[in-house]
Order: sequence, then structure tokens, then C-alpha cells
Amino acid sequence: MTHVALDLAVDFSAKRLAGTATLDLQARPGASEIILDDKGLEIAAITTPDGKPLAYAVGATDAILGAPLTIRIGAARKIVIRYKSAPESGALQWLSPEQTAGKKHPYLLSQGQAIENRSWIPTQDSPGVRQTWEAKIRVPAALTAVMSAPKAGEPVTRGESRTFSYKMNKPVAPYLIAIAVGDLAFRDLGPRTGVWTEPAMLDLAAAELADTEKMVAAAEALFGPYQWGRYDLLVLPPSFPFGGMENPTLTFLTPTFIAGDKSLTSLIAHELAHSWSGNLATNATWADFWLNEGMTTYATTRIVEAVYGPKVAAQQIALGIDAMNSAVTDNGGPSGADTRLHIDLKGRSPDDGLTDIAYEKGAAFLRTIELAVGRERFDVWLKGWFSRHMFQPVTTSIFLADLRQHLIKGEPALEAKLQLDRWVDQPGVPDNIAPADAQAFAQVDSAVTAFKSGKQPDAATWTSWTTDEKLRFLTRIDQRQPTKRLAALDQAFNLARAGNNEVRFAFLTLSVAARFDPAVPALEQFLLVQGRRKFVRPLITALAEDKTWGRPIAARVYAKARPLYHPVTTRDLDKLGLIAPAPLRP
Ligand SMILES: [Zn+2]
Repeated sequence: MTHVALDLAVDFSAKRLAGTATLDLQARPGASEIILDDKGLEIAAITTPDGKPLAYAVGATDAILGAPLTIRIGAARKIVIRYKSAPESGALQWLSPEQTAGKKHPYLLSQGQAIENRSWIPTQDSPGVRQTWEAKIRVPAALTAVMSAPKAGEPVTRGESRTFSYKMNKPVAPYLIAIAVGDLAFRDLGPRTGVWTEPAMLDLAAAELADTEKMVAAAEALFGPYQWGRYDLLVLPPSFPFGGMENPTLTFLTPTFIAGDKSLTSLIAHELAHSWSGNLATNATWADFWLNEGMTTYATTRIVEAVYGPKVAAQQIALGIDAMNSAVTDNGGPSGADTRLHIDLKGRSPDDGLTDIAYEKGAAFLRTIELAVGRERFDVWLKGWFSRHMFQPVTTSIFLADLRQHLIKGEPALEAKLQLDRWVDQPGVPDNIAPADAQAFAQVDSAVTAFKSGKQPDAATWTSWTTDEKLRFLTRIDQRQPTKRLAALDQAFNLARAGNNEVRFAFLTLSVAARFDPAVPALEQFLLVQGRRKFVRPLITALAEDKTWGRPIAARVYAKARPLYHPVTTRDLDKLGLIAPAPLRP
């Protein structure tokens, strides 16, 4: 499959996308069939472009993968599939007007990674495939459709509907096709950067994203020219399941990063860095996911260092190492199989690999290499890596071979020092890891020690801390606190309703562990106003696992919150059995 052309109408009342996908195929001489991925598509017909029907069959459905769609193509090298997505499509979320900021219009958003796009596009849905694509999207005339590609002409209004056209001329993996439809407004942030969001959110979003153009410049200096033309951002309604999704030319963002003080904008640096690691050089399989996320997490702190200075970067690295160590604990300890970078996903959902092993152990690996060879030499290799593998899928073994050929160059002492194979194939964290800067949080760490002996930070100290410093404090103090200590903290610093969502989440995590009743109303509110999986999954899971105190709260909240959450979030939370019987999803 080398090119996909979509021609789809968005039907909000039926919760379906309906129309055609036209696929250009490249095949061996004599090849007579193609197998596509299909998750719940309703296929009406498959034909050649001149309308000659092609025989096809949908095979047995696998709960994770969906079903193989086998098409007898004969000599055809272009095929047209007429179909509809199912209302339960795992990629698409249909929001009612009440679930948006403006409250007047419905909203559609998609999340393709890892293997969700097969629920709205008949495609070879593997990250090892690359294709160019284009789309014509018909929506109600009051709404705007945006996609992860440059626009191809102005929208055309006809009667009650408007048709938007997009075209991506660079080959991308299928999971990077994305769509959102809603009442959207746009504002420039810089010459090639801008923000899309609902009109009511535009001022807030644009202010928070003011450093975007600076970040693009910093990233280009580090990793080579930005290859995608524009870098725009779409700030979504709060049900978006992830912090961000690096859809090419149009990063999708949760609104929960808006703190009013740009303190959570390393998220933007992260999504931007994916324009190189992930979107240019793409993990060929989901077992190689650490190549997308570990490299991006490393690159994020490099951008943060360039834009906000070395101290901020050192602090974020230290927080990352703590997150990595927690992930090791959560994944079976230092010998746990899932603490390997190159993970085994056979028979499993790729979402199982979405842990801080991929992100933070991956980043620590790259920092370890940087420390061993020196920054200057490492940066030459890193830029070279992106230019050598531009618009290509990459595997862990391609990565290691490239590193050996272009960086290590046969130096036996360096090879021995790096322990490359140990890093990627063995569980746990090798002892040559580049350490966190012990001084990064010196003041906060002494406050953590003082807290242990009963002394709470005073208001002046707390206020003077940055968000990262507050997070260090809240995640480094004993995670099982007596309720009276949480009460004192909350009273002094209003943490259960903190405007900064990361700080709020850290405090609510402590509150659930301590069964701290006074925080429950704020906890419920937090779970009902946003659906970011990073926040809602651990809180609801921890509540559900507390059989006496927490579970009734979890059941009550989840029954109300579920319609707000995206399918990739509810799929996991439904397994907790809080709503009986668990709703079925194909
Ligand atoms: Zn990422």
C-alpha cells in the first residue's frame, strides 16, 4: 500500500464515518491478493476504480487485532473500498455538545496509535508500513475538520455541508493519520506555528503555547531541519486520552497541560521532538516502541535545556529517573521481562508496552551513551541517525548496527563500557546508567527529609518552588501518609484543587492511598472534568483495588465519567468490573 485517498462524510448522529478509501498497491508480479487490517468496519463493496467488483473475505476476529480483510486483487493495483466505521470504533470519540468548551456543537476526535486506525480506515495498520495519503472530509457547515497533513485548497461549502481537503506528500506510518472535527478557531503563534482549538479556549491555549516557535528553532539546531512544513497544535476537549499525540504537522494536545504559567510545556517539547524520533524514523514494530519514546524523551530534555536552561532540564531528568525506577517496580522488579527496552509483545496488546520503561529507561540509555562519548560526538551521531533513517521504519537491531558503525566505530573499550545489548535485551537497569544530578533538587530533598521528622515546608518556600520542585516533594515523601498530615498540606497549599493538574494528580494519589475523605469531592471532580489516561487510570484503579473504602467511590464516579472518556481509556477501566455487566466493545 503506497497511497491512501479517503473520501468520507462525518455523520454525528449515527457516529460514523462513511465513504471510500482508495488504495494504491505495490505488488510482486503475479501477486493476487492483499490482506488489510479491519476492526469493525462495515464494508459495502470493494471494486477497481472503474467499478469492477473484487471478491473479499473478512476472517476470524481477534479481540486485540481485529480481523484480516483479504481482497482478491487480481491484476488491479488500485482498489476502492466503500465502507462505514462502526459507532464503537476504537479510534474515534464522538463528543456531545455538553462535553465541549463551547457547549453548542458536537466534536469528533481520533487517536490512531497504536493499532486503532484500522477501526476507521481499511489499511495495512503496521508502523513498519509507510504511505502518502490524502482526504476529503465532509462535515456540517458550521464545523471545521482538521487533519495531520497540509491542507489541499480551501474548504468548499455546498448547502448544509462543508468539505475539507488535506494531502500528506511525505510517506508516514498509518497510525499517524488523524482527524478532529468541531467548532474550531485558529491563531498564529509564529511564522510556521499556530494553534487550533475551540474559540472559548483560544486565548488560554495561545498564551500557554507562546514558546512553540522557540522550541522548533531549538529542535532544528539539535536534530536537523524540520521536515514537515508547518508545526501546528490542536488543543482538544478534556476527554483526549493522552497528554499529546505527535500527529504530523498537527500535534494533538490535552487541555490539562494548561497551567497558566507554562510550567507543563515540556509536553510540547516532547510532541515536537517526535517530528524526528517517531515520525521521521519510526519504530518498525510496537516491540521497538522505545525507539519512538525513549529517543523522544531524551530529545525533550535537550530542547528544554536549550529553551529553559540546564537546571530545569536536570530536574526533569531526575524526575524521569524516579519514574523509571517506579516502572521497574511496577513491572516485576529488576528481573521483570517487561523492564526490557526491546519488549516481547507476542499475543499481547501493544498498549502493554506503554510504560516508563520505553520512555524513561530509553532516555536514560541515550544519556548514558552521551555521557560516555561526550556531547559533541553524540550530537553528530544523533543528527546523522535522523538523516540516515528519514522517512523509514527502524528496529532495535538497525539502531544498534547504526550506533556501532557510526559512533563506536570498533573501539573495544567504548563497546565494553556501553553494555548496549544489556541495555536493550536484559531486564532491569544496567549499573553504568548516567546518574541524575544529585544537586538538581538539593533544597527540596532536604525539605523531604525535614517532612519525615514532622516539619512541613512553610508557605514562602512552597510558593517559591517550581512545578517540578513541588512534584519532586509530593512524589518523594512517603506515599502512605497519615490523613492529618495530608490535611495540613492541603490546608496550607490547596493541593486537592491545585490549578496545576500534575500537582493535583500527585496529591490526589497520596489522598487515595491514605483514604483521605476530605479530598474525595475534589477527586471526583478531577475524574469528571478530564479523561487523560495518565491521570484517570491510576486513580480509578487504586480506588477500585481498595475494596472497602475506595471501590464504591470508583463505581460511583466511573458510572458518571465513562461517557467522557475515550475508548482507549474505557477499554482498560472496564476490566475493573465497576459497571456490571462490562459494556462490550468489538
Ligand atoms: Zn511520545
